[in-house]
Amino acid sequence: MLTIALSKGRILEQTLPLLKKAGLEIADKELNSRKLILDTNFDDIKVIVIRATDVPVFVQHGAADMGIAGKDVLLEHGANGLFELLDLGIAKCKLMVAASDKKQLKQDTLKIATKYVHSAKQYFEAKNQQIEIIKLYGAMELAPVVGLAHCIVDLVDTGNTLKANGLVPLEHIKDISSRLVVNTASFKTKNTQIKSWVSNIEKNL
Ligand code: AMP
Repeated sequence: MLTIALSKGRILEQTLPLLKKAGLEIADKELNSRKLILDTNFDDIKVIVIRATDVPVFVQHGAADMGIAGKDVLLEHGANGLFELLDLGIAKCKLMVAASDKKQLKQDTLKIATKYVHSAKQYFEAKNQQIEIIKLYGAMELAPVVGLAHCIVDLVDTGNTLKANGLVPLEHIKDISSRLVVNTASFKTKNTQIKSWVSNIEKNL
């Protein structure tokens, strides 16, 4: 049995066609059900659809053999217990620093609202900028508007969300896309099956 963990939401929309091209299909009946473990067109492959941040956790602990998650989420989680095998080139966006204007970044201690605590710390520490992180789980754009932080570190795609909240993208931290990850133990014990799926997916990218 092979279990694949997929990230809910915008990544899932772009993942399903990619899996289909590789020969793996999940019926709409399964996708639209309330089931948490979904059947596929292969008896020995199950899919779980969970929050993006939970995907590396399931894969690390072997609750899923493989997973698809954004690089943003993988950078926060770290590489414990999993290998990144493929850049799928989907759900592309940028991890950026944004604020109402450039002057906001000139602070002795810069207050940053983000859910990307690790990436933000790493980026600003490399610049020797003293920071205070305010961890949020969503609506980061609100923080500078209400005076909770000087800036945010968040994903930017079209830039429309920033613009709608009077913010501008100022510094580029990293290009982000979704990656295929595998549990390190599964990669050994189910090597042939995993490699064959990775190659099917890669061929159809
Ligand atoms: P946009 O307005 O197109 O720049 O999109 C920005 C909003 O969508 C932010 O709230 C981001 O956190 C979220 N977002 C953009 N791209 C992605 C992605 N590839 N994966 C997850 N969230 C994203």
